[in-house]
Amino acid sequence: MIGFEVAIIGGGPGGYTAGIRLQQFGIKAVVFEKARLGGVCLNWGCIPTKALVKIADLYQEVKERENSGIFQSDLKVNYAAAQRHKNEIVEKLVSGIEFLYKKREIALINSEVREIRRDGSAYILKAGEDEYRCKYVILATGSKPKETGNLKFDGKQILSSRDILSLPELPESLAVIGGGVIGCEFASIFQQLGVKVNIIEFLPDLISLEDKEISKRLLAIMKKKKVKIYTKTGVTEIEKLKDKVILHLSDKKQLEAEKVLLSIGREPVCDIKFNGLDLEKERGFVTCDAELRTNNENMFAIGDLTGKLMLAHSASKQAMLVADVIRRELRGEGDGGFSIDYANIPRCTFTNPGIGSVGLTEEQARERYGEIGTGKFMFSANGKALASGTPEGFVKVIFEQESGLIRGMHIIGPEAVELISEGSILINLKADINKLRNLVFAHPTLSEVVGEALEDCEGLAIHKM
Ligand SMILES: Cc1cc2nc3c(=O)[nH]c(=O)nc-3n(C[C@H](O)[C@H](O)[C@H](O)COP(=O)(O)OP(=O)(O)OC[C@H]3O[C@@H](n4cnc5c(N)ncnc54)[C@H](O)[C@@H]3O)c2cc1C
Repeated sequence: MIGFEVAIIGGGPGGYTAGIRLQQFGIKAVVFEKARLGGVCLNWGCIPTKALVKIADLYQEVKERENSGIFQSDLKVNYAAAQRHKNEIVEKLVSGIEFLYKKREIALINSEVREIRRDGSAYILKAGEDEYRCKYVILATGSKPKETGNLKFDGKQILSSRDILSLPELPESLAVIGGGVIGCEFASIFQQLGVKVNIIEFLPDLISLEDKEISKRLLAIMKKKKVKIYTKTGVTEIEKLKDKVILHLSDKKQLEAEKVLLSIGREPVCDIKFNGLDLEKERGFVTCDAELRTNNENMFAIGDLTGKLMLAHSASKQAMLVADVIRRELRGEGDGGFSIDYANIPRCTFTNPGIGSVGLTEEQARERYGEIGTGKFMFSANGKALASGTPEGFVKVIFEQESGLIRGMHIIGPEAVELISEGSILINLKADINKLRNLVFAHPTLSEVVGEALEDCEGLAIHKM
């Protein structure tokens, strides 16, 4: 039986990061991955979608300039080529991680772990025909798209977020069931590529976990772009015909589409038999403490499986935290690592315009701190945004009146997903809006909108009435 200090199950952004960090610490670890390194993020999530987002954004931008007479062309989308481009990017990144593993000589076993049991103070893992012994286990098995009742994937007409990524050609129309982050990203991609898009969302808002003002603005922008949005509406039945699908809605209306994207959330994956072990879960997500320890000694869980914040950078930060905890434990060092404040991890939605947020929403901040203030500045008053032809959206800063501490930043607009890092740094460094007068934002840049929103917290934005 082969022995390791740590066994990591799953090679997504959680698992593969843990493998690298443990190797950096000189700890002998093994990663089990049944598919390829990179998990959902690199293979079927963040990266392939963003390759398509870029193509869709570019197409829309040139089309708009064409309409205004600046460029003259007969622009068309070659979707097969877009698919090839997306696949090449994925391959480049996945093989890059595989290369890192090879060079760093990290043990990688391309097999599914099916069973775990205890043997004294060690764990025994069964993968294929082999058994592996280790002291620590990190569960990083991720999540998968959710189905429910009579809403089920068939991979042909009713698609998951994974199926839709490999459509060989653009459909004429697409119905997106679920207006969360993933649903809105695909709706934005396909709408920009010329597909007729409908979104059906059970709740009153799209991306309902975001600040209300942001989700309302996204709804208005999408409607302006002719995406049909049915909020407070459920899908009661899906009728499949040969070349189209009919959706029966809760308000008795019917809606036709060539394809359906079912994006009603994700659920944890943990198809492992825990022999003689009882792993505590809540709604299927593995329960763990602030150091990501499960109820079983020396067993940790990270990433989507914990349901804490289902994002790639959250998974990789958790991996670094667990590696640090294990290192300190093995070396007999006391506390001194770091902790994760999930509210202060940035969250991005890659629609057009994009959305970036960090910290509390206005509603949450008011509930927690009572007296709060806000500062807001529009991209339409910013030179770079206007010059770039992307004046839609705003930056909103939320601060606590008593202390002046920034508690949230929410951006919808050009490069929102990049700009939000500024909010993230300010919040994590506990910035006080009264002490930021020495900050200078370069001109002409989009970041000036962040600067003016901060000034607006004191009613001092220069380019605002
Ligand atoms: C369409 C889409 C777009 C997304 N876009 C973004 C984005 O822009 N930004 C962002 O931060 N997040 C995004 N996400 C979310 C992000 O992909 C996940 O949060 C992230 O991948 C979670 O990482 P993980 O390591 O927990 O698990 P996963 O990435 O799910 O990886 C788990 C791995 O474990 C393997 N595995 C499972 N069970 C076993 C077993 N028993 N034995 C061996 N191997 C096993 C699986 O094969 C898989 O490779 C997106 C997700 C989707 C679906």
